[in-house]
Amino acid sequence: MEHDGVVPILPDGKTGGNACCVLELPFSNNKSLLVSKSGKHSNFPLLITDVCYIHSFDLQNWSCEFSSSSENIRPSSDTPLYWACLIVAPEKFQWKLKPSFAMHGHASANDQDCIKWNIPVSDKETRFSTREDAQEMLSLLEKFPYPENKVFLRKKHGFFILGQDAQEVFDIYESQVKTKFTEIINSENVIKGRSLLDPEIAENQHFYALLRNYFYVNFLLL
Ligand SMILES: [Zn+2]
Repeated sequence: MEHDGVVPILPDGKTGGNACCVLELPFSNNKSLLVSKSGKHSNFPLLITDVCYIHSFDLQNWSCEFSSSSENIRPSSDTPLYWACLIVAPEKFQWKLKPSFAMHGHASANDQDCIKWNIPVSDKETRFSTREDAQEMLSLLEKFPYPENKVFLRKKHGFFILGQDAQEVFDIYESQVKTKFTEIINSENVIKGRSLLDPEIAENQHFYALLRNYFYVNFLLL
């Protein structure tokens, strides 16, 4: 996603995008999530130790129970939105099919184009990683259920892609998102510091492939 320009590289060198998959462990009725860590640097590949295991997220009390490889590795601040998309919405709205993989980047497209492409856009702009943000995501998912809809735009935050597995999400990303969501959120501030064509960043385009393999392999194994 970094290479394609759909996740901004923030002034501190971190990326505005992440991915998540559902884990259904044997001997447990509870679903959990694997999510990429908060503040992944753009010029480092995502390591296995950079992934957080989310046992639960309480959207009412805004608390998260998670495991990670060290104290410095914390889940992405988009974790509540993934919890809303992958754990809460499928049960609450009785979706026939339940998505197992999701991807998100801080790139956008204008409302008119989204209408043309049948991509639902949320009504309200909300501050990232707040109760209102998660509520707005749930309202959007209630109005536009999965699997009839698989790409969503949270106003002034970015796109979310939901799918049955990593391969489906990456296929949707390639065909429907990568070339369409070209407006980077807060692009002026975000991109000024470093060009996406910066050779150091270009060298790290394999991050995308690594992330895909990591989640794909783990998802298939479980
Ligand atoms: Zn985000």
